[in-house]
Amino acid sequence: IRRSADELLAGLNEQQTEAVKYYGPALLIAAGAGSGKTRVLTRRIAYIMGVGGVWPSQILAITFTNKAAAEMKQRLETLIGPVAQRMWVSTFHSACVRILRRDGDRIGLKSGFSIYDTADQQRLVKIICTEMNIDVKRYTPRSILARISDYKNNLQDWRTQLKEYAPQFKPGQRNLKMGSFGNVEELYACVYAEYQYRLATANAVDFDDLIMRTVELLHDHPDVAAYYHHRFRYILVDEYQDTNHAQYVLVRELAGVDDKLTPEPGAVGAGKNGPAWITVVGDSDQSIYAFRGADIRNIQEFEKDFPNAKTIMLEQNYRSTQTILDAANKVISLNPGRKPKKLWTALGQGDKIIGYAADNAQQEASWIATEIARLAGEEGFSYADIAIMYRANAQSRSLEEAMINAGIPYQLVGGTRFYERREVKDAMAYLQALANPDDDVNLRRILNVPKRGLGARAEAVLTDYAGTHQTSAWEALTHLDAIEGVPTRTAKLLGQFRDLMIGLREFATNNDAKPSEIVAEVLDKSGLLAELQQSTDPQDQTRVENLSQLQSTAAEFEQNTPDATLNGFLETTALVADSDQLPDEGEDTGKVTLMTLHTAKGLEYPVVFLTGMEQGTFPHSRSIDNESELEEERRLAYVGITRARQILYVTRAAVRSQWGQAAEMMPSQFLDDIPADLIDWKRKETSTEKMRGGWGDFDDDDEFSGFEDFGGSSYGSKSYGSGSGWGSGSSYGSGSSYGSGSYGSKSYGSSRGSRSY
Ligand code: ATP
Ligand code: MG
Repeated sequence: IRRSADELLAGLNEQQTEAVKYYGPALLIAAGAGSGKTRVLTRRIAYIMGVGGVWPSQILAITFTNKAAAEMKQRLETLIGPVAQRMWVSTFHSACVRILRRDGDRIGLKSGFSIYDTADQQRLVKIICTEMNIDVKRYTPRSILARISDYKNNLQDWRTQLKEYAPQFKPGQRNLKMGSFGNVEELYACVYAEYQYRLATANAVDFDDLIMRTVELLHDHPDVAAYYHHRFRYILVDEYQDTNHAQYVLVRELAGVDDKLTPEPGAVGAGKNGPAWITVVGDSDQSIYAFRGADIRNIQEFEKDFPNAKTIMLEQNYRSTQTILDAANKVISLNPGRKPKKLWTALGQGDKIIGYAADNAQQEASWIATEIARLAGEEGFSYADIAIMYRANAQSRSLEEAMINAGIPYQLVGGTRFYERREVKDAMAYLQALANPDDDVNLRRILNVPKRGLGARAEAVLTDYAGTHQTSAWEALTHLDAIEGVPTRTAKLLGQFRDLMIGLREFATNNDAKPSEIVAEVLDKSGLLAELQQSTDPQDQTRVENLSQLQSTAAEFEQNTPDATLNGFLETTALVADSDQLPDEGEDTGKVTLMTLHTAKGLEYPVVFLTGMEQGTFPHSRSIDNESELEEERRLAYVGITRARQILYVTRAAVRSQWGQAAEMMPSQFLDDIPADLIDWKRKETSTEKMRGGWGDFDDDDEFSGFEDFGGSSYGSKSYGSGSGWGSGSSYGSGSSYGSGSYGSKSYGSSRGSRSY
């Protein structure tokens, strides 16, 4: 895998080159959007191997999404060859799954442990709340889980919480009839402790546990930690600004930073006896996951956290035009307390940002569709060059409708995921229960799916036994004969279910059984498929198709994975994220991409539509009165703007329905933040605003007094006529007014939709 340094440094600027070559224990590459951070990280890995002679197995690279990991791996393969496949390039979560699969038994996790998704977690919390007489209207499972997630992201152990708030409480005793709690902290502490107890008996973890329990494993078992300290000589993390405290500690544990080890004297590079060398890459202005516990301090305090750390700044942006950068820089500059950054581009001024104010969300969407048709028809863009972004998933509906009406092919990223669909989740619950018999949540889910006469009372037979014996529902099932007072019919049906599961498990553990065959067997023997096939409900036909799709997915997994196992299949499906639906790098799907701003992180598109630029939509209504949340929204705006390479659109609607009601929306303050001369408004004022004489009417509202500028006379009606042509696109449809021919695929290369390195 030797490569010449020149090869691996080709095309990089001076600072990028320095970052790739930097030789030392801790490196932070801090820079604004589009400055090549991800590219540098990838090259650095290639350089460490190709020039430094470090083995692929000695490197751990962490990306923010599975998709980004796959792309980075692919890129590395072209740089240094197929050995790259042996590297760990993954998200935090999948790296932790690997670590826990190997040594989880040390902290009580048996092989085949389940990974619970949000729906599973909610089921479990609901069960606990019911048993504890907690009013789930007042304390929703969702809010309780948010709190539990906070605890975990901050590595707050349930034992400590109990000690502090509910020392009398013993998890797993099932004597929980304690309808009243002294205070909420006590309630949270008890539910947290019980929740962890149930996860443990179910041999299951949730997403946050993947990180927290790995930290626990490494922390409590020095020999396991030593294995990784010895193994990883380099750890590299992309999007470091969005790591949470648990992930930060995980990196330290994996690297062995806190060990009392000193590097071998004269050791070359990351010596065997020293901690792994760390490279992190990020942009504190793009930290947008505080709601998931991301802690911006991790990047801000990097130099304090890692002794002898070096920081390298990148200043040249290779992605966007000057206009786009100017807008982004202005918006983000309004966040207080940040270090100003210099970011420049050699790509030229480019076209103005194009603005459009619609009367309502439908009109906004149809205008966008018309505009996309024009870009594809007259400006030489491919649909795949174009992305439409929005703050919240719910906004996608009107956009989708407009794409369909205009016959524009599109791909929606996010929304209800395949694995969240009821029938798919049912089939997966079978697989999960096969792999992990103790998985109570999944076993109880399928007890009466398809309907087999095992209702709530039959379930209670199992849970009562399990409760008294502090064991799982499956164990109860295997001790059926020992349970007294079970009606004969129930006993018989339970016995049949048990035999079904035993039969399926035998099939699954048969060495030759492939995941797709196991799926087929489950669908058949469980009666899941038959029940849907016999149904006359047209929806059930779709469900049958989804199950067939599931089987194909398993078959695909086998093709791509040597030694494909059921556990492996369950793992990949558990870790699927919205971003995985994005097309592969460089692939021309011929489709416009629709996604949330959060999902767009790290990506780039020649044309970007930022939609729903309204107060209450973006920035989100929750954040308007909260300074720190508003700052986060501003970072999100910065992320959105900087996704665009050539043309940026900003659109808003004067009316949008919220909670089923039409609400009047004022323009987003972020529109006001963008210097006015950078935006070419195709329509600046909506019909109602025009009638009123503009937003000036709202002068009495301090917060929005800035929108006086939107006064009707200065723009709008002149260039666009009486307004009758709106929606038809005819009044400005020639394309001659802005930029036709001035851009297009020629000048900006062919990159679409994803990074090119
Ligand atoms: P983000 O902050 O959005 O994650 P980033 O800093 O990671 O952005 P990259 O995605 O790595 O930036 O790079 C942005 C674009 O600039 C990519 O298309 C990349 O290929 C290109 N690029 C980066 N460095 C160079 C370079 N030296 N020469 C040419 N193109 C470059
Ligand atoms: Mg990046």
